[in-house]
Amino acid sequence: MRRRKTNYPVFVTLLFIILMIAFFRSGSPQNDLKNMSEKTRTNFLMNTMVQIRVYSEEPDRHIDRSFELVRNIEEKMSRTQTGSDIYRINENSSGNDYITISSDTFRVLERAVYFAELTGGKFDPTVGPLVELWGIGTAGARVPTEEEIEKALSLVDYRKLVLNPEDNSAKLLQEGMKLDLGAIAKGYAADEVGKLLKEEGIESAYINLGGNVLLVGGKPDGSPWKIGVQDPRLNRGNVMASIELIDKTIVTSGNYERYFEEDGVIYHHILDPDSGYPANSNVISVSIICDSSLDADALSTSIFILGLEKGLELINQLEGFEAIFITDNLGVVLTEGLKGKVTLLNNDFYFLGSD
Ligand code: ADP
Ligand code: MG
Repeated sequence: MRRRKTNYPVFVTLLFIILMIAFFRSGSPQNDLKNMSEKTRTNFLMNTMVQIRVYSEEPDRHIDRSFELVRNIEEKMSRTQTGSDIYRINENSSGNDYITISSDTFRVLERAVYFAELTGGKFDPTVGPLVELWGIGTAGARVPTEEEIEKALSLVDYRKLVLNPEDNSAKLLQEGMKLDLGAIAKGYAADEVGKLLKEEGIESAYINLGGNVLLVGGKPDGSPWKIGVQDPRLNRGNVMASIELIDKTIVTSGNYERYFEEDGVIYHHILDPDSGYPANSNVISVSIICDSSLDADALSTSIFILGLEKGLELINQLEGFEAIFITDNLGVVLTEGLKGKVTLLNNDFYFLGSD
């Protein structure tokens, strides 16, 4: 009896502690979830609409830092911003001085040269003079003369870009040459934002830089993101197919993005460095799905120029890359790994070559 009496308060205290632990244990995930929220913000950066959606306890803080990072990359890689790495290299195109640049820009230039070699020069980071001549997407857009095109083409050659990895410096060997990273820098920025968010512990985010989509994880509940594929005949936001993805990037290049029309002809912004004219292959849109948005960006532009047959050949020889091609007669061609995973949402489109 005596013993029981003395132990009673100890027993009650222990029971209380156990109950409290049980309460907080079961309560804490709910509390965490209550503090989590999804936030989306859109800004105009890198000459396009950049949308970032983050699911976290402090989405604003992560979104702020993500936009700061994109702005920072734009300041380094823009062709037009005075003082950017690319601007400074272009200003010194007489070939005398090596220009020291940031390690980010250097890495992107190295990858750009890799893709130029891989695509036999269809992708070319020295396409700047041609981009400026056509001015597509600017108020001065016009069809140039043959002579002007010839002159600009004589300045487009990635083999005359010299990179020195010892001190991250670069130079162009011919006066008037100009770098343009418009087809690859957005992919790099998407990768970097994804990396930052993952480092900050984010498990669910959606990043879209003007058609370069990068997904961190799945949706907040862990299910796949349903990503729409743009209808290449219509304005942005009109989708013709969908695909479910987790932790991947999907990048689309199409002729609907930036163009002008003259005498019934559409002149768009992806230029063929062999002809000097907007690429005129049998595909009107190419989406690349893989892990690196930079690679997907470079490849979607390249394959848009290469067309269906050469594009398929190229993508099939690379490991870890899938593609959705839309041909000029609205046929949809998928690489092996995507078969059965793309849903068509518009009856004008049909699967080509599927068994
Ligand atoms: P978007 O910028 O609409 O996402 P792309 O990634 O396909 O489309 O890039 C197109 C941009 O790339 C053009 O606006 C131009 O700055 C640049 N560019 C055009 N033609 C080429 C080319 N053959 N190789 C490399 N860059 C190119
Ligand atoms: Mg691209």
